[in-house]
Amino acid sequence: MENLGSRLAEYLNSKNLTEDYRRLLNSALNDPDVQRFLKENSDRINPNAISTSAASIYEFYNNKRHTSELTRGYYPKLIVNNHNIEVAYYPNERTQNREKRSQYESGFVLMDMAPDIRRAKLDDYDGEGRQDALAKALDFIDNYLHQDSFTPGLYLAGDFGVGKTYLLGAIANELFKHDVHTTLMHFPTFAVEMKDSIGQNNVLAKVNKIKGADILMLDDIGADTMSSWIRDEVLGVILQYRMQENLPTFFSSNFSMKELEQHLAVNQRGEEEPVKAKRIMERVKYLSREVIVTGENRRFKK
Ligand code: ADP
Ligand code: MG
Repeated sequence: MENLGSRLAEYLNSKNLTEDYRRLLNSALNDPDVQRFLKENSDRINPNAISTSAASIYEFYNNKRHTSELTRGYYPKLIVNNHNIEVAYYPNERTQNREKRSQYESGFVLMDMAPDIRRAKLDDYDGEGRQDALAKALDFIDNYLHQDSFTPGLYLAGDFGVGKTYLLGAIANELFKHDVHTTLMHFPTFAVEMKDSIGQNNVLAKVNKIKGADILMLDDIGADTMSSWIRDEVLGVILQYRMQENLPTFFSSNFSMKELEQHLAVNQRGEEEPVKAKRIMERVKYLSREVIVTGENRRFKK
């Protein structure tokens, strides 16, 4: 095999190159990365495609020194493809981290939640009144990952500030490590959004998107009075689907299950609808197991 380096040098001296190109190509050929590449790969490269090879080396050298709008976030590397020299672009560390993050964000969807929930960790979840909830959370994760049968989620009931939402976030984070995707949403805000969507005719699309999440967590259920429509056509439809499909669902509430049933039995207009409330609660009880969380209010501790 002919010496590629000398062919390139010969090419460099040919008359039909502009002075600028010749100068830059000369610097490119003296670049240590280029030299190393040529040394390691010269017997794999087609010696007749010198002008193409030169153009790739030139491109590599230029992009190595100045990133352009197009190649920002990537670094160039010379490769041999089909006996020709080509430039490939690889994501740099920052770009890789960003890609990882966006994968993470699509796998752990937070709707109307404080973003610091993303940092919640089971390792940090401790303290008086929380041991039972922690043990059940760990059981859930273990069963969900290792058993084929349906694993009910948890219904975390307890006072304001005891860390219910934090625990939901920590469970979602742990599951994400095992590639299980969770949607965690603040239910009262979602209900208001749904009401606003009625006029835009996209309630169904929004409900459909949520109801099929691998793991769904409805935070702060019962925090405000629900209209019959939200209770039956939104919450009821989501829970019915999840029950049919055996999809684990978590809840957090300031109410116990029993209190939530009473709460749901009275609609926004003050009318009593105990049968409707019972139907919702049957689904809640199928999909989750109640855990009472106690302990200090951590909200003002920070
Ligand atoms: P709840 O949902 O029960 O009202 P939160 O989960 O919102 O309570 O917790 C109240 C506050 O305490 C939040 O700011 C939360 O981030 C913080 N918190 C709760 N548990 C922990 C923990 N184990 N480590 C650090 N901060 C916590
Ligand atoms: Mg909360």
